[in-house]
This record gives sequence, structure tokens and C-alpha cells, in this order.
Amino acid sequence: MSPELAAEGTRTVDLLVVGGGIAGLTTAIEASEAGLQVALIEQEPTLGGRVARFHHYFPKLCPPACGLEINFRRLRDNERVNVHTLATVNKVEGEAGDYTVSVTVKPRYVKPDAGDYSTWAESCPVEMDDPANYGLSKRKALYYPAENAFPASWAVDERAVKDPAFIEWAKGCPDDGLDLEMAEETLTYKAKSIALATGWVPYDATKLDLLGYGNDPDIVTNVQFERLSAPNGPTGGKLTTPSGKEVKSVAFVQCAGSRDRDHLPFCSGVCCTASLKQASYVREKLPDAAIHMFYIDVRTPGRLEDFYQERQEDAAITLHRGKVAKVERNGALKVTAENTLTGSLETVEVDLVVLATGMQPAAALVKPVAEVELDENGFIVQTDEATGVYGVGTAVRPAAVAETLQDATGAAMKALQMARRS
Ligand SMILES: Cc1cc2nc3c(=O)[nH]c(=O)nc-3n(C[C@H](O)[C@H](O)[C@H](O)COP(=O)(O)OP(=O)(O)OC[C@H]3O[C@@H](n4cnc5c(N)ncnc54)[C@H](O)[C@@H]3O)c2cc1C
Repeated sequence: MSPELAAEGTRTVDLLVVGGGIAGLTTAIEASEAGLQVALIEQEPTLGGRVARFHHYFPKLCPPACGLEINFRRLRDNERVNVHTLATVNKVEGEAGDYTVSVTVKPRYVKPDAGDYSTWAESCPVEMDDPANYGLSKRKALYYPAENAFPASWAVDERAVKDPAFIEWAKGCPDDGLDLEMAEETLTYKAKSIALATGWVPYDATKLDLLGYGNDPDIVTNVQFERLSAPNGPTGGKLTTPSGKEVKSVAFVQCAGSRDRDHLPFCSGVCCTASLKQASYVREKLPDAAIHMFYIDVRTPGRLEDFYQERQEDAAITLHRGKVAKVERNGALKVTAENTLTGSLETVEVDLVVLATGMQPAAALVKPVAEVELDENGFIVQTDEATGVYGVGTAVRPAAVAETLQDATGAAMKALQMARRS
């Protein structure tokens, strides 16, 4: 059953979810399986959010495709969720139980019934930075958004549609599946409640002057390291430095910009476990490589403590207690920190530096259109009142996937209550 379409084209749903990462996706599925009509609005051309770009995820260290595919299957078999990708909310009016939401859907420039362009896209003459690989590689202007994309559909990068070389090339489209004249659409939804699952963005490492990001290709962030390790990433999963060197040693720099009043004052709570996870990638792919991790204190809450202890026992991983003061290239890449246990200054030479940058709420950079209170860091403040607008997942606080899923179930329950009340 698709959302009810009123005469004037307004669609009616119980819940409108903004953000199709693991939090929004799960909220939409849980609510719909409990009987609600749902609209899911995602700005990217595919659902999945940041998790889809990981190599593995802790604690089980399985590839993200496992969990996501199960959710995508639940979504495919579910007629109560209307998914809009390349879509954002531009206006929200009304009150709890009766919102009117205006949604802008950008053109995909590929017709819904178009075929598989894997072979033809290789001849595309226009390439651009690939945001899915955090700028570590280029992609063709006609691209498939992710290995297990949902929807399973090609897209044209909007930066290419006015490029004469691309327009000329597109004329040779094998089954006439491209439409470069496709226009933006505006949809109107009536919704009883709204879930904001807009997630997080990696903190901008170029702001960390002393850590050298941007000055040297072999200083990367933790999210880039996920891509460098993934088989569907820019190196096919072969761990080399971005400048193409063999990796014999790696340093993980914890709290890169986190717990720092000049950057992100809070602890993201997942970066220590994420770096320990990434140390496992190195261990598995390059058994002889030396691994250094510089930390203020290692935070691996709850059951993740076991995960930490297992890696503590690994002789190839050296844990240095000290906040890194400087990363510079002086012949070799050098990481300098004051060891807070010994008081001595330590400098380690490595081939690759991974900055463990924290999770900044997306809402800190793009304020939500729906009326909602943000804290001083841009996280959505949850209230017990039936406001009709709920934050979910990392839009509310930094969190791992497990907590995000609990939030999603909670938001689905609130939406259910609102639907019954109004
Ligand atoms: C380096 C690193 C590694 C990590 N590894 C793990 C791990 O191994 N295991 C684990 O459990 N957790 C891990 N995490 C945490 C994990 O990334 C988060 O728990 C998870 O991404 C939260 O999902 P989310 O849906 O809240 O946010 P996101 O994944 O950020 O999804 C938000 C979605 O909303 C969309 N969106 C944003 N704004 C709008 C808008 N205005 N309109 C429409 N759509 C919008 C985005 O495009 C995105 O698709 C890691 C975090 C880091 C930093």
C-alpha cells in the first residue's frame, strides 16, 4: 500500500523520517512493520549512510553489507515505506499530529527502467572526486552509488550535466536511459510525526593545524582508512599509503580534535574502538607491520572492553599514553607526543598516520528545518514531551550502531503512539 494520495497531490503518512542511514532506515522499517505508513527522505543517491562505507564493523567485525542487506530486503518487501533518495526537506509547517512537509527531490538523470551501465560507464570521459571514498579517488560522472545500492539504480553526478564532453558522450547511451533534462520535483507530505536521523559528519581535519592533514597524502582520517581497507574502496582493499608506498608501520592518533575546546569538546565514544578495529585490519592484511596507537585514555565502554583487551595482548600493537602534539614530514612521517606515564617526549616514524577524528552532528552544519532544540554542539535535544519531532541515532549523540538501533525502535514507538493519538 503506498501512501494515501489526496486529490491535490499531497501524500499522507504517519511518520516522515529524514536521513536514510542505519538509524533512519531502522526507524522506518520498525514503524512500518508495526503498521504505520512512512516516508523516508535521504539526501544521497543510496540508503545506508556512513556505515555502508566501512570495511567491517565492530564488535563482530563483519562487513556492513550483511546488516544493511537484511534491512534492504525488509524494505523491498514492505509497501508501507515510500523511499525518496537525492531528497531533502525544505519546509515544515503545522504541529504534532499534523505536519505539512515540503520535500525537494533532485533529478537522478537516469530513467527508472534504465539498464546496467557497468561496461558503458567505463568510457565516460568525465570524472570527479568520489565523495563515497572521501576524496581518495575519482569516479565517472555516470556512477553506481554503492556496491549494494538501494535503490539499485545508476545516477549522474549533477556536476557533469552541463559539461559539453559529458553531454556529447551521453548521446550514445545504449538504451536511451539517461535524461539530462530531468527536473527537480517538489512533493508535499502530511505527517503525524517526524524523525530526524540526519547522523554525523567526520570532523574537518584540516582545522587541526599541527596534525598535518592536507599537507601530506599519507596522513589520512579514520573514515578514509575504512575506505583504504575495504575491498570495494579505492585500492581494492590493498593497504598501501595514498602516495603508493608499502605500509610497514602505522600510527593511530586518538582524540584528533576531540575533547578539545577549540574543536569538538566532547568524546565521540566510538573512536578508540574504531581505531582498535582498524588496527585489526592492519594486523590481518600486513602481519609484519608495526602498529602504534597514541591515546589520552582508551574508552571502550561496556562489552567493548573485551575487544580492547584482546588487542592489548597483541605484541604488534604498541599503545602510547600521550596526546599527539605534532605530525610532520621531515624525511619520514614523524608523530610526536608527550608520554603522560613517563613524562618523556616520544617521536615515532611511520609510513601512514590515521587521525581518529570525531563525529560532528550533521545538524551542527545544516540546521534542521523542523523545529527542534539543538545543544551547544549541534546534537538534537530529546524531550519526554510529545513534540512530534524526534531525534534518532547520532543526530542525538555520538553512538555506535547498537545504540542507534535502540533509538530507532524507541522513535518508532513514539511515532506509533502519536499515530494512535491523532
Ligand atoms: C571511524 C569510525 C568508525 C566507526 N565504526 C563503527 C563500527 O565498527 N561499529 C559501530 O557500531 N559503530 C561504528 N561507528 C559509529 C557509526 O558510524 C554510527 O553509529 C552510525 O553511522 C550512525 O548511523 P546514523 O544513521 O545515526 O548516521 P549516518 O550514518 O550519518 O546516517 C545519516 C544519514 O542521513 C542523511 N542525511 C543527513 N542530513 C540529511 C538531510 N538534511 N536530509 C536528508 N538526509 C540527510 C545522510 O546522508 C546519511 O545517509 C564508527 C564511527 C567512526 C567515526
